[in-house]
Amino acid sequence: AKADGKGRARLFEPAMDAHLLVRKAFEADLRAALQRGEISVHYQPLLDTATRSICGYEALMRWQHPTRGWVSPAEFIPVAEDTGLIDALGEWVMRHALQEAAGWPDHFTVAVNLSAVQFRGATLSRMVMSALAAAGISPGRLHLEITESVLLAASEQTLSTLHQLKELGVRIAMDDFGTGYSSLSYLRCFPFDTIKIDQSFVRDLSTGPEALSVVQLIISLGASLGMETTAEGVETEAQYACLQALGCTHMQGYLFGRPKPASELGHVGAGMPQD
Ligand code: C2E
Ligand code: CA
Ligand code: CA
Ligand code: CA
Repeated sequence: AKADGKGRARLFEPAMDAHLLVRKAFEADLRAALQRGEISVHYQPLLDTATRSICGYEALMRWQHPTRGWVSPAEFIPVAEDTGLIDALGEWVMRHALQEAAGWPDHFTVAVNLSAVQFRGATLSRMVMSALAAAGISPGRLHLEITESVLLAASEQTLSTLHQLKELGVRIAMDDFGTGYSSLSYLRCFPFDTIKIDQSFVRDLSTGPEALSVVQLIISLGASLGMETTAEGVETEAQYACLQALGCTHMQGYLFGRPKPASELGHVGAGMPQD
């Protein structure tokens, strides 16, 4: 029951309470999801453009809810961020992905997405170091993908954590490049190793000269800054041919493979110790 303006208790406010209850139940489910074994990681291949062969995978978090089925990360990651659950989930994905990568060919990279919220404390680089050591993976094989939101605050804390990670030998990729307001200015404030061209530009490649010009610009910018460029969301041979001609170094998309569970990748995964 809530108190109204005059101090009397009202029994309920149906619309708001219903919404709140759904949200609270969702949060409670997410909180329990790790323990219940509902969280998993799927892996999407990353391709080297020159050889058109797989050179790594991106780890993508998955939640199989007992009644809702697969919940999109676009739906549950923001809730995990609001509630602080992202720290536990993020560490879980990091440890699993690195452990899995230990069973792949030595030159394969593994990309893990980081949320801005994970940069708040001062413990992120220590967690990454510990996960690398536990899996026995060399730091150069780990690519951390961050979006503009990480740099939006541009606190001393965030930049110092990024530099610590860089000193570890981990590579840093700027995800969803070109979708934010300040993508260009962030390239000056941190030496990224990779620019990931957002899939919206790739999708529009065939619809007119504008997207083509933007993609061309991003790729030449990346090349002149000594960065690799990965195009996301490549779905057709025409897109592949176009991006290859423009000099894009890496690609990802349904044309090469959808995200799949580790067991379907065809590598002898190291697996996780039972936890
Ligand atoms: P993202 O990092 O930009 O990941 C790319 C998304 O595009 C993935 O969606 C992937 O499945 C999808 N995708 C890949 N190739 C294609 C394609 O050819 N066509 C189309 N239409 N889509 C393609 P997903 O797995 O649903 O993830 C959505 C977002 O959720 C990710 O975007 C990322 O921002 C976030 N996310 C996923 N896993 C994690 C995680 O472990 N931690 C954090 N912090 N965020 C995560
Ligand atoms: Ca990503
Ligand atoms: Ca992306
Ligand atoms: Ca995204």
